[in-house]
Amino acid sequence: MILDKINQLLDEVRQMTAANAEEVEQLRLKYLSKKGAITALMNDFRNVPANQKKTVGMKINELKQIAQERINQLKTDTETVECDAQHIDLTRTPYPIGLGTRHPLTIVTNEIIDIFSRMGFVLADGPEVEDDLHVFTRMNFAADHPARDMQDTFFVSQHPNDVTKNILLRSHTSSVQARVMETTQPPIRIICPGRVYRNEAITARAHCFFHQVEGLYIDKNVSFTDLKQVLLSFAREMFGADTKIRLRPSYFPFTEPSAEMDISCFICGGEGCGFCKHTGWVEILGCGMVDPNVLEQCGIDSSVYSGYAFGMGVERITNLKYQVSDLRMFSENDVRFLHEFESAD
Ligand SMILES: [Zn+2]
Repeated sequence: MILDKINQLLDEVRQMTAANAEEVEQLRLKYLSKKGAITALMNDFRNVPANQKKTVGMKINELKQIAQERINQLKTDTETVECDAQHIDLTRTPYPIGLGTRHPLTIVTNEIIDIFSRMGFVLADGPEVEDDLHVFTRMNFAADHPARDMQDTFFVSQHPNDVTKNILLRSHTSSVQARVMETTQPPIRIICPGRVYRNEAITARAHCFFHQVEGLYIDKNVSFTDLKQVLLSFAREMFGADTKIRLRPSYFPFTEPSAEMDISCFICGGEGCGFCKHTGWVEILGCGMVDPNVLEQCGIDSSVYSGYAFGMGVERITNLKYQVSDLRMFSENDVRFLHEFESAD
């Protein structure tokens, strides 16, 4: 009697058909799942007389195998059909192509360029793969000066016995200033935007590359007062007419005297908040009078000309304006991040 049941099931599974993956799954549930017809046979198997157990057992195994093979076959068939259908279905909605917007760093760089252009500065550009001469030597970094270590970068070719022969990824855009100074006589009034590199671990607050805008003005009788006025005008245009600035003494190899510039915190208005670490001020750039050694290095007579230079990090300014909490978001290419800046574009 159990053999009749097996033969009947064998006929059924041999004739199984399915139009899609869902129907295949229904068949699998009907025959092979824990509550399926073939599994149920195993329960009946207990009642089979001992002398028939071998024959019936083999028959059940055969049925099970055929059912499994048939279902596998149907599965493959329906998948192929569905796949083919996808290829020829011209009415299907295509995957949406995510359009971006202008990158926040580009928006802010353009804004900085725009402000300084109105004050008479012209754009200057230079290579990202640079030689030591333009990145360090011309900028008054002595070969053994520890300030070089403050700007550890990536080397394309390194010469431990003579660092001035190194080829490297520029660690600041001052190399562009050097290139302009060695080919142009004053008056020089340039801004140099560009990507720079540092050998830093990548975290929310540091990255191995970032962007700078540096400015340089060289002429006769250029004084610190000129620098301060230009920076005040910039800060007011960039962060609002009420913005105050303050300069703190600092050190850079290429300027003397050197200063860091803070602006009054535009979130709390200078009263102190978490953003400005309760000081009322946030640092935005470094600046100073160009060191006479730099002028001489670049072939400009320091007894006739003087000048100032300043440099700021574009990520820093962008963070201040838009409060981007994680630097890494700038380079992750996530369109959702860009859409946050649609209205600023
Ligand atoms: Zn504040």
